[in-house]
Amino acid sequence: MSKLGDNMVKTINTNSYEETIELGYKIGNMLKGGDTIILDGDLGAGKTTFTKGIGKALNVSRVINSPTFTIVKSYKGDNVTLNHLDLYRLDGVGDDFDLEEYFNDSSICIVEWPYQAFDIIPKKYLKIVIKRLDDTKREITIDGNTYYDGLVGDLDV
Ligand code: ADP
Ligand code: MG
Repeated sequence: MSKLGDNMVKTINTNSYEETIELGYKIGNMLKGGDTIILDGDLGAGKTTFTKGIGKALNVSRVINSPTFTIVKSYKGDNVTLNHLDLYRLDGVGDDFDLEEYFNDSSICIVEWPYQAFDIIPKKYLKIVIKRLDDTKREITIDGNTYYDGLVGDLDV
């Protein structure tokens, strides 16, 4: 555990796909409607894998995949909707998507490639950075970004 600037930050290394799902699951269990996570990391780092773990925690029954042709996919969970946004193919905020609507109190939003349209993302986000160390190892940094410092502090890893 460490403080980076003013934020609570934890770094976890996972050694497999399953361990990344497990970490997503743990964090998913701590989320509530209105929460936003931004996921940063290269293609193939494990952003969508991590999102699968969150879906598991929310009891999403459909399989979560990379939204290939769509920017957003919404999944019904037990108590909230999981909105999985992948802004990779978005070129400029001028695009015809009402993305702001997805950020509401009855939804949890997970955003891959957030910097493609950073303006539309609420400022109170939990930031997760996934770095590929080798074929099976990932370094996952969880930055409370002040607003989520309590969650990061409570996270048992
Ligand atoms: P992204 O959404 O960041 O582009 P994906 O989650 O779609 O990445 O893909 C990650 C790929 O890396 C998957 O093929 C997965 O099986 C593989 N992988 C290997 N080790 C890990 C790990 N420790 N955590 C997550 N994914 C892993
Ligand atoms: Mg992805």
